[in-house]
Amino acid sequence: MPGLFSLRVLPVVFLAWIVQGCDRAPTTGYADIVFKSGAVYTLDSQKPWAEAVAVKDGVITYVGDEAGVSAHINQETEVISIGEGMLMPGFHDAHMHPMAAGTTYLRCPLDGLSWPDEVLRRLSECEQPLEKGEWLRATGLESSILERQGPGMKLLDDVSAGHPALITGQHGFDAWVNSDAMKIAQAEATQDQLAGEAFVREPESGELTGVLRQKAFSIVWRQATQYSQRALLEGLRLASQYANSLGITSASESAAFPDHWKAYRQADQAGEMTLRVQAALRWEPEMGKDQLVAFEKMREQANGPLFKSNTIKLFIDGDSLFSDASVLDPYESDGGFGFSNYEEQLPGLVTFLDSAGFDLHMHAYGDRAVRNALDAIEIAIRTNPPRERRHQLAHIALVHADDLPRFEELGVTANIQPLWAWMSDERREECEGLGQARCDRLFQFRDLFDSGARVVAGSDWISESMSPLYNIQIALTRQPPGEGGPPWHPEQRVTLEEMLSAYTINAAWQAGQEDVSGSIEVGKAADLIVLDRNLFEVNPMQLKDVRVLRTFLEGEKVYSLHQ
Ligand SMILES: [Zn+2]
Repeated sequence: MPGLFSLRVLPVVFLAWIVQGCDRAPTTGYADIVFKSGAVYTLDSQKPWAEAVAVKDGVITYVGDEAGVSAHINQETEVISIGEGMLMPGFHDAHMHPMAAGTTYLRCPLDGLSWPDEVLRRLSECEQPLEKGEWLRATGLESSILERQGPGMKLLDDVSAGHPALITGQHGFDAWVNSDAMKIAQAEATQDQLAGEAFVREPESGELTGVLRQKAFSIVWRQATQYSQRALLEGLRLASQYANSLGITSASESAAFPDHWKAYRQADQAGEMTLRVQAALRWEPEMGKDQLVAFEKMREQANGPLFKSNTIKLFIDGDSLFSDASVLDPYESDGGFGFSNYEEQLPGLVTFLDSAGFDLHMHAYGDRAVRNALDAIEIAIRTNPPRERRHQLAHIALVHADDLPRFEELGVTANIQPLWAWMSDERREECEGLGQARCDRLFQFRDLFDSGARVVAGSDWISESMSPLYNIQIALTRQPPGEGGPPWHPEQRVTLEEMLSAYTINAAWQAGQEDVSGSIEVGKAADLIVLDRNLFEVNPMQLKDVRVLRTFLEGEKVYSLHQ
């Protein structure tokens, strides 16, 4: 059994055993599941490829050649043939919002339903499980239905049975509401807002139509997303199922509110999680340092098998699309420097949170935000005693050349979102504001990898695609994901090996899970996926079409394409 008792794996085995208790120790005896007859990409740098893997009690007990695995098989063992496909570790999405997005987008999707019959039928079905006073929420309504005056409030009143209702259009910027929701919006809006275009009215009568845009939409949105614990748990369940179907077994929740944290913990304690979650607790700038006491308590209590939260999320700036990323040189569009949440207070805050032992997950989109965040981390490192820090900057769309080497020097992880790295209409709009020189430096993935930085990747889902393979395709091609077309700055393309590391072993380290997941090694948990093709034999423009056949978390099947 090559590998099982090698010196290299023993420490992993023992550490995992100490951390997790006896159930994590490798067991002798026959395997519950064996994967064989195909390609195994392990993400173990010592032994990247294998032919077969055995799993017992949720733990990997063998990684090696086909001949060696036969000793693990008896009549009870489920033998899965990998065939033309590929077995690899489950993906880690290093930046997403599973609970917020799951609750908002997956509870009642209307995509593709015909108007009005199918949509109204779905809405009345979605209304059924709601508790009194809960919002009826649905998304994906064909945008043309919300053009001009929309369908009117009465139609929605009839299917929402006394619940306030908010139905979001495909683009997510406008909505159809019923009378109850309209009353809530009216009560909170100013006179100016009420008279403005955000409240759409019949041109002749001046009556409200139930279509809300801009500010009116955000008032209702804020109210409608105050979910009950039951709704949050349901959102998590749906998001996890969706993630599992895309091969994701681990996620970094990148902005958890306290009620999200509570729902994660409840799901973990009840044994209902099908995703490992490392949650970054969302720091509210206006609430100040008093928040730390509650955060320390949350960190201590989030110690279940699949849920941890020893990270704090800081929003340093906005994003460039609306000229609010914080930039070193002014925008060409409006001459401003963008939006910045913290300026001179940042080093003090980062030093304070670092001294409490938290890792920081910072939203930093523009080059000024990136520099300020790196400066603050540098000061914290100089000020506080040494410890193993795992700070990270997410998005990092624009990084000044002087700051590129600092990720590696300071040990700060670069957390990238590949799905933005192609020339879409959004990018064109963004580039108009930034000017050509900075536009040419957006999303320098090649330079980040070459700088020696540890790179992790995530979807930022709520975004248009949670799929790791879709994101990986864009990082490899920088071409429009559908029809192809010219690549945008092809010199910044990266390799499949690099992106698979970013999406597995690197992200596992970032989440503090490197002893249990992120690669296929003896002693690690069997978080594994079977793909229908070998990724290394697929045209990069077709990576997004590769299907996940099965997903396992700790050896339990959490997804199967063919049930
Ligand atoms: Zn995000």
